[in-house]
Amino acid sequence: MKIGALRETADGESRVALTPDSARHLQKLGHECLVEAGAGEKAGITDEAYAEAGVTVLADAKAVTKASDLLVKVRGPEADELERMREGQTLISFFWPGQNPELLEQAKRKGVTVVAMDMVPRISRAQKMDALSSMANLAGYRAVIEAANNFGRFFTGQVTAAGKIPPARVLVVGAGVAGLAAIGASISLGAITYAFDVRPEVAEQIESMGAEFVFLDFEPAQDGSATGGYAAPSSPEFHAKQLAKFRELAPQVDIVITTALIPGRPAPKLWTEDMVRAMKRGSVVVDLAAERGGNCDLTVPDERIVTDNGVTIIGYTDFPSRMAAQASSLYSNNIRHMLSDLTPQKDGVVVHDMEDDVIRGSTVAHKGEITWPPPPPKVK
Ligand code: NAD
Repeated sequence: MKIGALRETADGESRVALTPDSARHLQKLGHECLVEAGAGEKAGITDEAYAEAGVTVLADAKAVTKASDLLVKVRGPEADELERMREGQTLISFFWPGQNPELLEQAKRKGVTVVAMDMVPRISRAQKMDALSSMANLAGYRAVIEAANNFGRFFTGQVTAAGKIPPARVLVVGAGVAGLAAIGASISLGAITYAFDVRPEVAEQIESMGAEFVFLDFEPAQDGSATGGYAAPSSPEFHAKQLAKFRELAPQVDIVITTALIPGRPAPKLWTEDMVRAMKRGSVVVDLAAERGGNCDLTVPDERIVTDNGVTIIGYTDFPSRMAAQASSLYSNNIRHMLSDLTPQKDGVVVHDMEDDVIRGSTVAHKGEITWPPPPPKVK
């Protein structure tokens, strides 16, 4: 099968869905790879590097779409990209079907099969295809790097001839994949790190990484771990307790990294304006939930703002793209693992097995039908 990678067109998007390394793996599965000229440029991959890996470089998106049976992308398609596709072709990319009903209808009308990387079921067998986790891991790490870059002080404490330097104090709110990566990066830079999550089971993970779990005096212990490992909205009483605790911490911490999300809902507001006002001049808030409305009241998506009291608030939504080379390498690995499952005989023939939980769960349009939302997976 001919697998073509398109150049990303979204503003500020530097990742690419196919790397020369992943192309080599796909060739071993019997596939032929194509790429649009310049697709890897912002991720540091030249057209020559693709050619050396045996990938055919074509001039533009039109040519790649025409010549391919299956297209791979990072961002969901633009309407014109989807319009150029033909019946029976497959697209593998992020898609966010719940937020893009028109695109889903368009895929149905065009008879295009769409495998949404954001819909990969979170079961053990699918971890190697879990692009949400691989990108969240990058985002958590990068959030700390951005914070450090905006914080005019050391993270680690030092005793020098010129004076004693206290360690920075970092609070990570939400300890999912991104939050745990942020905790790891913060600890490795030497900051005293605190973390909070509504799911009490993460306390052990947080502490094993060397951070301090922020306990709330609340019965039942923490509130909101209802749905299969994911967070549920907190009760008003719990939310009030949580905010009171954060208000106490606000003047003490130098950096706050917020990552709190609840599936299918806007980000909960957890770092309020008065908390920002209570922070020391020079402190930094990095809001990884900016795209879903932000955990901080003052976050402006895609912006870096500095408040009157000298607190920097970063609402960038492109953290993985800021590490485009690494992100492309991980994302293209996720894609090639998906393609490996889609090519069971390793003979270059894609078998779209809708009985397979992972393939079924990720497929949002197939054979002229919308196949989202999927039925619940059979395997846990
Ligand atoms: P996420 O991005 O949906 O949310 C981030 C974190 O915010 C979560 O830990 C959540 O509990 C927390 N949160 C929500 N409301 C909060 C509040 N009011 N205050 C503080 N924290 C709050 O999370 P994620 O990274 O997708 O991870 C969610 C779960 O899924 C975790 O248990 C994770 O280990 C699990 N997971 C499993 C797999 C797998 O099995 N393949 C893969 C990835 C994640």
